[in-house]
Amino acid sequence: MEASVDRRKQPHAPTAGNGNANGVASAAEEEEEGELEEEEEEEKLRLRLRANENHKPESYEDLQMQLEFSPLLFSSLEQYLPFNMLHVSRELKLQYMRHILLRYSPEGERARVKRHKEYRQKIILNYQPLHRELYTHEANFFVPSFLKAIAENTEESFRSIMFEPSPGIYTFEMLQPRFCELLLSEVENFERWVHEKKFRIMRPNTMNRYGAVLDDFGFETMLEKLMEGFICPISRVFFPEVGGSTLDSHHGFVVEYGVNRDVELGFHVDDSEVTLNVCLGKQFSGGDLFFRGVRCDEHVHSESQPEEIIDYSHVPGRAVLHRGRHRHGARATTSGQRVNLLLWCRSSVFRELKKYQKDFSKWCGECQREKKERQRLAVGATKLELFKRLQKPTS
Ligand SMILES: [Zn+2]
Repeated sequence: MEASVDRRKQPHAPTAGNGNANGVASAAEEEEEGELEEEEEEEKLRLRLRANENHKPESYEDLQMQLEFSPLLFSSLEQYLPFNMLHVSRELKLQYMRHILLRYSPEGERARVKRHKEYRQKIILNYQPLHRELYTHEANFFVPSFLKAIAENTEESFRSIMFEPSPGIYTFEMLQPRFCELLLSEVENFERWVHEKKFRIMRPNTMNRYGAVLDDFGFETMLEKLMEGFICPISRVFFPEVGGSTLDSHHGFVVEYGVNRDVELGFHVDDSEVTLNVCLGKQFSGGDLFFRGVRCDEHVHSESQPEEIIDYSHVPGRAVLHRGRHRHGARATTSGQRVNLLLWCRSSVFRELKKYQKDFSKWCGECQREKKERQRLAVGATKLELFKRLQKPTS
């Protein structure tokens, strides 16, 4: 099975708009027919009146820093979940409960932001970086071909260094081997410090148990510049319909796969408009990325078309750039260790506008398919009408 997502009947879980939760996608067919009304969607997010005493809830302790509410609250709330939710993945249960809790407590979000600021401050004041040149753009980060394409800043120059294995997925040589090496050693140094100080750190998102948020230990400015100077110009050209020209915030982290680490990553969408994913090394086998088409919130569970199914093998230093809503996952890293740098780029403008839109056929594969089908039916009906008129003798 390629995905860690439970494929039994699942309710539509809301995708989180804050924090750094991934949206979970399931390849299972849509359970319901037709469109769900907003009300019905809300209706589905309910708890049972009586606790299910026999259900043993999961622990959410490891997510303490990234949750708006106490992990214990989630564990106790879990017993009140509807029956069909009790045995889905922890990720789905968490999303379901967060959505319910946030409806009642907008202050929860403010408290989370404040706690996070204090957390970051505490790390930055105490952690001694190993390679200071990484935190500024002094080091030689990029390969010459990438620098040249960015300097020229045209669609042709970008295309000249890119390979597009499937529409909307761009891969290109990006990082110098030396830079990858230094960044890997900095991350290791940070993790050693965390371990020695027994510091409790936030993991990059709700799906990865290993890895670290680069923004939390001093890389915020460097990554901001990386997004502005290097990813924005490309996104403006290739992803304008999902806010590619108005990217204004980011979430940067590294994830680690292999033995004693996360092995694979289930099928999901990112909480980003545009995602940059660069392999940093080290030696590994397996760990391919698989993609399954771009989908809007409503169609995140819909089936993939054969042409949307594509696999990509990581090469150290090489980047993959795709829309956050491009459903994907990572196959098992079967040996060695694989570390990837992820930069989730977001656009607040796009997110605001999206609230008022219903048709995402500019980028959602399923909206597109439905639109074409409606047009086909309309043309068919018109033809039939014309044919009938021609058959009728005019009086
Ligand atoms: Zn759609």
